Amino acid sequence: MIDDWLAIVDAPSDRERAGLLNEQMAKAAAYPRLVDHGDEEGWHLHYRDDRQSLPQVLRSVICVGTALHLTTRGMHRLRRCEAAPCTNVVVDTTRNGRQRYCSVRCANRAAVRRHRERR
Ligand SMILES: [Zn+2]
Ligand SMILES: [Zn+2]
Repeated sequence: MIDDWLAIVDAPSDRERAGLLNEQMAKAAAYPRLVDHGDEEGWHLHYRDDRQSLPQVLRSVICVGTALHLTTRGMHRLRRCEAAPCTNVVVDTTRNGRQRYCSVRCANRAAVRRHRERR
């Protein structure tokens, strides 16, 4: 599942990213169903399959969360940290949408490298 999500992070274009995310959300989709447990409650609606495993539930939560993040903040706001060799995922929630590093530590490391390259 983490591989599926990383493929979304690494998608080369917005369209491919949306396509991969749509595939995942289709797999995670659940249908409401009528259920009768044979007790006094009688027939009622369940909004998802009882047999859904925790990983499936997590998949849908993560996919929908990612989709909401991208559509509300911008399709480009998901990438890898630019401070090689770090490959952490950067979920960009900054105001200007230009977060390039996963952490202050990586940002500092990249700044030191740039400084050295200038000299
Ligand atoms: Zn029930
Ligand atoms: Zn990093």
